[in-house]
Amino acid sequence: MNTSNRQGYLLDIDSHLLRGELRQHEYMGKHVSWRAGGHVAYFYQPADLEDLAVFLRHWPKEKPIVMIGLGSNLLVRDGGLAGVIISLHAKLNDLFLVEHDEHGDLIYAGAGISCAKLARFAASHNLAGAEFLAGIPGTVGGALAMNAGCYGSETWTWVERVKTIDRNGTLQERAPSDYRIGYRQVALRTAIPSIASDVWFVGGWFRFYPGQQESARQTIKTLLGTRLQTQPLNFPTAGSVFRNPPGNHAARLIEQCGLKGFRIGDAVVSTLHANFILNCGHATASEIEAVIDTVQATVYQKTGIELLTEVRIIGLHKESEP
Ligand SMILES: Cc1cc2nc3c(=O)[nH]c(=O)nc-3n(C[C@H](O)[C@H](O)[C@H](O)COP(=O)(O)OP(=O)(O)OC[C@H]3O[C@@H](n4cnc5c(N)ncnc54)[C@H](O)[C@@H]3O)c2cc1C
Repeated sequence: MNTSNRQGYLLDIDSHLLRGELRQHEYMGKHVSWRAGGHVAYFYQPADLEDLAVFLRHWPKEKPIVMIGLGSNLLVRDGGLAGVIISLHAKLNDLFLVEHDEHGDLIYAGAGISCAKLARFAASHNLAGAEFLAGIPGTVGGALAMNAGCYGSETWTWVERVKTIDRNGTLQERAPSDYRIGYRQVALRTAIPSIASDVWFVGGWFRFYPGQQESARQTIKTLLGTRLQTQPLNFPTAGSVFRNPPGNHAARLIEQCGLKGFRIGDAVVSTLHANFILNCGHATASEIEAVIDTVQATVYQKTGIELLTEVRIIGLHKESEP
């Protein structure tokens, strides 16, 4: 493919080399759970791992790449992004048991597998520990990137090793010790920090512990029931917007500051769970971000506590759209 797009640059890739789907000027509201946001210059869904490697090798070295899963923790600003967003959801979808490892059973899950599927797969193989993943509406790749967690459990507790890919399409297996892992943050330890953001997860090996299928299924059911009661799942959201500050709860602070129900346009702080911001209609990314900014400023002004975002915000503001 030799084509220019609205962002005005050429992508010189022989289309015969690619087996995945390449789109231009893609509306990202379709690919993020907030159902809002701008356009990306290029959007690619690789056919498989080999195809992803080919794409990465041919993508211009100076142009940004963002890897995503289900977009359940992501906001792309209304001005969009002059690079490529690569979606792995339902593409790198290997899911299998690695049998008779000397320490028991391991599960390999591709980055595009949904967390819910991994949780059910583990349960169906009499493994326990993965139940918390059932209610996280993202992919394995997203869970690895975010160290997603809930109900006292986190993704990386269960990781034996991961498989990564870099800009050259080179695959590598890495150990948890290769990463700095914290609360909703994961960073590759490397001497050249700029390289760390250009190394992505394509899969991981998970070691859960022996359990009972029925009790794992029951735990999943209970945890999903709790979510239904405590989270506003009837509007587009990105889950918890802010990380909990040490020893405190973001939702409690937001509520104490009287911000439940605060709205700008169609972006509204949930009255059920104050750490969720709802898209109650046609919210723009700017409206959502303005609510985020106002919540941060108000909580800081009233309590002195700085709320940091858990959601990832990328792209340009509308006025700077290329
Ligand atoms: C209703 C609701 C409930 C939620 N509940 C929880 C919860 O209980 N706990 C929790 O932790 N989160 C929760 N979330 C947030 C979200 O589901 C998680 O953060 C999830 O792990 C994101 O996965 P994703 O595939 O959607 O990632 P995306 O949103 O697509 O991406 C998130 C970040 O990860 C990066 N990324 C994605 N894939 C890769 C990859 N393969 N390699 C490298 N980087 C990658 C992206 O670039 C981005 O920075 C919730 C969200 C919603 C909407």
